[in-house]
Amino acid sequence: MEIMKEKWNDIKESVRREYDLSDISYRTWIESLEFYSVKDDVVNILIPSDQASALDYISKKFTNFFKVTITEMFDHDYDVNFLLENKIPSTGTASISEKITDHGSINNVTHENANLIPRYRFETFVVGSNNKFAHASSLAVAESYPEITYNPLYLYGGPGLGKTHLMHSIGHMILDNHPNMKVLYVTSEEFTNEVIESIRSGNAASMTKLREKYRTVDVLMVDDVQFIIGKESTQEEFFNTFNVLHAAGKQIILSSDKPPRQMSALDERFRSRFEWGLTADIQPPDYETKVAILRKNAESCEKIISEEVIQYIANNIKSNIRELEGAFNKIVAFAKLNKLDQDITLAVAEEALKDMIDPNKSNEITPNLIIDVVSEHFGVKSEDITSKKRNSEFVIPRQIIMYLCRKLTDTSYTNIAKLLNKKDHTTVIHGCSKIEAEISTNKDLQNKIEIIEKKINPSQT
Ligand code: ADP
Ligand code: MG
Repeated sequence: MEIMKEKWNDIKESVRREYDLSDISYRTWIESLEFYSVKDDVVNILIPSDQASALDYISKKFTNFFKVTITEMFDHDYDVNFLLENKIPSTGTASISEKITDHGSINNVTHENANLIPRYRFETFVVGSNNKFAHASSLAVAESYPEITYNPLYLYGGPGLGKTHLMHSIGHMILDNHPNMKVLYVTSEEFTNEVIESIRSGNAASMTKLREKYRTVDVLMVDDVQFIIGKESTQEEFFNTFNVLHAAGKQIILSSDKPPRQMSALDERFRSRFEWGLTADIQPPDYETKVAILRKNAESCEKIISEEVIQYIANNIKSNIRELEGAFNKIVAFAKLNKLDQDITLAVAEEALKDMIDPNKSNEITPNLIIDVVSEHFGVKSEDITSKKRNSEFVIPRQIIMYLCRKLTDTSYTNIAKLLNKKDHTTVIHGCSKIEAEISTNKDLQNKIEIIEKKINPSQT
């Protein structure tokens, strides 16, 4: 027994090598396992208590790996058993996946066709106690594929906490391992618009095409399903798609802002289906996780960001990771704009964030929040939206910002013009009335604005 204890790290290393485990897989499942005892030729291995939910998965996936490795190493037949250790306190520290694997250009097209954002990968996702379970569940689904572990996997949590990042990570990993599988990521908005479009066209061929697109995939990911629920025809189409895919054993991954139980407008038939697989939540990040994420951002930044600045951001940005990254980028942009070429100091950070960090204002809807959410929604940078650039892709987002600033805040036309770098407030008046007029006839736009409003103010129902 002593010898096995001494050799425990070699055993784990050998499992890693022999079974060619990826760094993330090793770090998530194996690294924290501890040797416990050997009794009647059974090796007992401890799973730390904060990994308790992974017991089933680890036993299923790794029992045989350990059994073979230990048997070979000690030249004697052993069985392996995993036990839960409930007494080890959770350390709560965040671990960083430092190494970003170079995936080169392999299958870029497949990944693009699947609608996947290149940078949202497991390698760039920082694991902390707030997202540990959701991360482990996502990794389990991805690395076991094509074996189906949980179906559907349902990830939920507030805005900006990493749901979309995790979904894309699953998609990338499945495609890396199985390039021929058909993986498709879609936002609820895209799905809704496609359904509305094919209904409006009144043309049977277009409905058939839509069904063919969604019902022939191997892995379907639908992000933010709360935006589909309650929209009658879209919801029905989604329900049928879900049933067809699930019955065919295809993997479905969903995200939402709430657990199925708390979605008030959700029919029972949806609720039970969403709970068929596994639901996993993501909580707001704790301090350590925030620091780990900021350090990771700092590593890939050309400016040097001191530890003091990182702590300042982590202490002051409370709610989510999107804002955390927003604050970070704002500081870097501020330093560049003011041509500060020395390292970024605390004073610079304080100045850059002075209107963002105000503890009493955290829930207030501000024009800046509207600008950020709309920019993100359209996939453009907020600096570009507020610049003088005249590209056509900025026209609609800017008009939506004008409209929402009037609707949701009491900002004057003149001040909105200033924020958007427009000389004249009549541009703003024109923009607002344009959106108002169009909203009553254009269902896509109506839907888009409804979704953006919910993103700005998630508590509104
Ligand atoms: P959600 O879909 O829950 O609203 P996102 O997945 O869009 O949130 O995350 C918002 C931003 O924060 C993204 O840029 C994402 O890469 C980043 N992010 C979220 N969680 C993490 C994490 N754990 N590690 C690294 N980046 C993260
Ligand atoms: Mg998202």
